[in-house]
Amino acid sequence: MDFKNVIIQLLGIQDVIIEDVKLFKKDLRAEVVVRQKRSSCYCNKCGLQLSHVHEWIFKELKAVPLGIYSKVTLKYYQLRATCDDCQKVILAPTPWLHPEFTSMTCGFAEHAGRLMEEITCEAVGRILGCNSKTLWNLDQYRMESMMKYLTLPKEIDVSYLSADEVHFKTDPVENRKGLFAKRWTPRFITNLVCPSEGKVLFNGPGRSAKSLETAMSILSPGQLLAVERFAVDMHDPFILTIKNKCPNAQVCIDRFHLAQAVNRAFDKVRKFEFKMAKENKDNFCRDMLEPHRRFILVTREKDLSKAELKLLDKLRNVNKSIHTGMLLVEYFHSMLNKKTIKAFRKALMTWYLVVRESKLKAFLELTKTIRKYRKNIEAYITSRLTTGVAEGLNNKIKVLKRMGYGYANETSFMRKILQRCGYLNHLSINTDEFYFSMPNP
Ligand SMILES: [Zn+2]
Repeated sequence: MDFKNVIIQLLGIQDVIIEDVKLFKKDLRAEVVVRQKRSSCYCNKCGLQLSHVHEWIFKELKAVPLGIYSKVTLKYYQLRATCDDCQKVILAPTPWLHPEFTSMTCGFAEHAGRLMEEITCEAVGRILGCNSKTLWNLDQYRMESMMKYLTLPKEIDVSYLSADEVHFKTDPVENRKGLFAKRWTPRFITNLVCPSEGKVLFNGPGRSAKSLETAMSILSPGQLLAVERFAVDMHDPFILTIKNKCPNAQVCIDRFHLAQAVNRAFDKVRKFEFKMAKENKDNFCRDMLEPHRRFILVTREKDLSKAELKLLDKLRNVNKSIHTGMLLVEYFHSMLNKKTIKAFRKALMTWYLVVRESKLKAFLELTKTIRKYRKNIEAYITSRLTTGVAEGLNNKIKVLKRMGYGYANETSFMRKILQRCGYLNHLSINTDEFYFSMPNP
């Protein structure tokens, strides 16, 4: 193969003649000068070969790295010529030129796009010497184009699914009524998770029935019927949607969501006691119950150091509510470890009793919810589903959000979740063609 042709192939371009290649060893930079091949320029309206060169338009483009020469500039002369049929002067179409990001080749865009499936736009910007904002826009464009091709793998096992909401961001409330009205309102994204694959299948904005419906729209009618177990939070809109859409599914409240609920109840107790300690000028309790110290309270004892355990014991001695709260959390977990419904029910009765005696408001509220969803919790006890995947994915999404320093745009956050934790990436969708020409979304 002729070497000029090799370079053309490596750059992922077509129908050009190489006029010059300059390599700058000092800064590992390459410049390739190419001119469009006149014989392969056709009118994009009528398909006639273009004749009578009008002019050559010069463009400087970013192209893919060539071996160790990471910064490659393509100096491109694009033909502007007459179409005899249309009687017009037109710019000869160049499919390998990116339609939206006109300063790069499709090859460069796809190279950057695949990197952005794994790392942040900033990091890719540093690697490729490119503006990170441009790359961010490119990533959005690419994900949007790929959405058209998003399908689930055929052999996927959907007999067990789970739905989970993740926090997206917190918005200030506009037009607040009254001084004590809520200031902030959290916004969520609902993810449909397939635990056996460890992937997010699809998602929808919000945490309403509609959100889950949107997320479930990726499933075919056959797949909806095949769902046997569906793990969710204690959240009526979700449960109703599942009952509507998946007639054969048993709704389980899984351990992950139960643990979240009991931790929330305990945190309410902590907040209240923290406030009391502040009012009573009880410095020890105040310091211990500070929000950033919360981890000592929620960490399992075996993971704490000796000094931390000592502090914890002291706190338990002086603050009865916290002590009771911690015992209630502990007992709650042991209750979920029960193997049979009978044993679980027995433990639950004891738990109800202890909560009633403790008079802790947050836990009393929790018992009401538990009572309401008892059947669904028992479905979990018999199913023995594990929740490692849901926890892992949730963690991954949190890291993702942090890495992007939070997301302002709901759609981009949702797409990113699908890209990193689902099937919206080149491992699931073949995007090899994108190297040579980019479809419009
Ligand atoms: Zn024409």
